[in-house]
Amino acid sequence: MAARVLDGTAVAARIREELRPAVADFAARAGRPPGLGVVLAGEHAASEIYVASKLKAAADIGCRADLVRLPASATLDEALAAVRSLNDSAVHDGILVQSPLPEGMGATAEQAVFDTIDPSKDVDGFTPVNVGRLSQNRAVLAPCTPTGVIELLRRSGLDLVGARAVVIGRSDIVGKPMAMLLLHQHATVTICHSRTRDLPAVVRQADLVVAAIGRPAFIEPDWIRTGATVVDVGTNRVTDAAVVHRLFPEGSPRRAAFERRGSLVVGDVHPGATEVAGALTPVPGGVGPLTIALLLRNTLTAAEQRLACGASR
Ligand code: NAP
Repeated sequence: MAARVLDGTAVAARIREELRPAVADFAARAGRPPGLGVVLAGEHAASEIYVASKLKAAADIGCRADLVRLPASATLDEALAAVRSLNDSAVHDGILVQSPLPEGMGATAEQAVFDTIDPSKDVDGFTPVNVGRLSQNRAVLAPCTPTGVIELLRRSGLDLVGARAVVIGRSDIVGKPMAMLLLHQHATVTICHSRTRDLPAVVRQADLVVAAIGRPAFIEPDWIRTGATVVDVGTNRVTDAAVVHRLFPEGSPRRAAFERRGSLVVGDVHPGATEVAGALTPVPGGVGPLTIALLLRNTLTAAEQRLACGASR
């Protein structure tokens, strides 16, 4: 039997609708809407699409949304100056710097940027202060993608207390904060990575699997325990027809979509997992839409916090 689909698109739409009146209420009290400032450096095709969706989603619920664009040749100092200007802005409550930064800025540029963002405006939850608060279970602004996963599981009525959760991936933006949030929900958490021994055996223990690896269809169906919940964070654009043909049978809607467009977005979990899992997030339409909805929620939270402490004019 096919797994229950955890519909991230529908949950994200509900969150946005909940935020709309709260944004209007903030604007009435503050005399201005919550403001999001996005810094985009260089010309990265995927980043252009992500940033456009974030700005549109923010404007759609009544937020102010501004783009600060830097050329691919911009220096790290210029990126830091853009962040400092948003730190000082009275009308911007949230700051987001889109990754990846241009290679010319150096290998440690992202860390330097996160170290510079005012933690009270850090709507991505990546600054050291907010990472520390998350670890102490007193986060105000936590990373959007893993917070979105928790929101999806909670609103789908899935109980995490005592559940054996296996998170595959240990990045600062997904894997590590995901593990921390699951721990705070009282799950028993194992974090896996590229050096984990016998990954299939570890995954087979899980009541909940969160895959955040970045490898198309890497998690095989026979790694999944029957009835387990599977959250697929992976977003992998596949252009190789052989890969698509291996994953999706002839005549299936996904294969037809590939034939039309020449590419397909595929998760980290093999689509056959739907025959084994109890519940599963689709890709696309699972975790992705929640990331943006939680960014909007963090922007409103930051705005409310700044208004409460008198920092907002
Ligand atoms: P990342 O920084 O590249 O981290 C990938 C993680 O996967 C690393 O910890 C790596 O282990 C682990 N890994 C790689 N190969 C592995 C293997 N063979 N076995 C076990 N673990 C392995 O990626 P990320 O930024 O966390 O993103 C992960 C995926 O989520 C990507 O597809 C990304 O596009 C997607 N994503 C989606 C959203 C969304 O909104 N839907 C948001 C963010 C990211 P090591 O640490 O040992 O190298």
